[in-house]
Amino acid sequence: MIPPPRDFSRLCLHTMTTRPWTFAEAVRRYAGAGIKGITVWRSAFADCSPAAAGELVRSHGLSVASLCRGGFFPADSADGRARAIDDNRRCIDEAAELGAPQVVLVCGSAPGLSLEESRVQIAGGIAAVLPHAAAAGVRLAIEPLHPMYAADRSAINTMGQARAICSQLKSPWVGIAVDVYHTWWDDRLEEEIRASGREGTLFAFHISDWRTPTTDLLEDRGVMGEGCIPIRRIRGWVEESGFSGFNEVEIFSRRLWATDQARYLEDIKSAYLAHA
Ligand code: ZN
Repeated sequence: MIPPPRDFSRLCLHTMTTRPWTFAEAVRRYAGAGIKGITVWRSAFADCSPAAAGELVRSHGLSVASLCRGGFFPADSADGRARAIDDNRRCIDEAAELGAPQVVLVCGSAPGLSLEESRVQIAGGIAAVLPHAAAAGVRLAIEPLHPMYAADRSAINTMGQARAICSQLKSPWVGIAVDVYHTWWDDRLEEEIRASGREGTLFAFHISDWRTPTTDLLEDRGVMGEGCIPIRRIRGWVEESGFSGFNEVEIFSRRLWATDQARYLEDIKSAYLAHA
């Protein structure tokens, strides 16, 4: 087992983790807490332009790990698919203006389509925006989602399915965001992470924990150590495979959003050293 993180130099927080805070407050609080990375949810741009958001982040000594999120490519009409492609091009432009190296893709799934057809449309959608991403210098990170979201959020549910798209598109601009919440159950996870490392497609690493029982499919994630995910073990596979980027804490939790966020941030830091 690899040792615990030595410090907070690779700790990154996803802004949705502290949802009650405005974007500006999150930046200020994260910087004040000695955190080095931030992943930005697109809702931040309701208050300020992507360029201004990037300025704010950098002036506080933080780096942007990712912009969340693009994707949602499958649709049951050509019109719907074209709209998704347009929106992803806009998202790529926003990432470039923000100074984000990559966009995380929640790939999508249309309930009226088979999963196979959704996957074909996902690969087609990514291929369609790939030249735009390469020109903007923004990478696209496919995030496999837990199969409980297969009907409506993503038909990409395993690292294997994400790797298949990477191999099909063969571009240095397309890789994978490994999220322990979505992938921990997969008995092929270790070999898939190692294969992805060899292929150079490990772009991002997200952490949180799986609570039992889970009371909400979207908003009941736990802080590291509150659940059953072997986070440090998985981080070991990711790092042994060559990944040296941020460990991004991404917790969607109505329970935790209702608590004092400053104290919660300190709890996240302690849990990070103890369990990540
Ligand atoms: Zn994630």
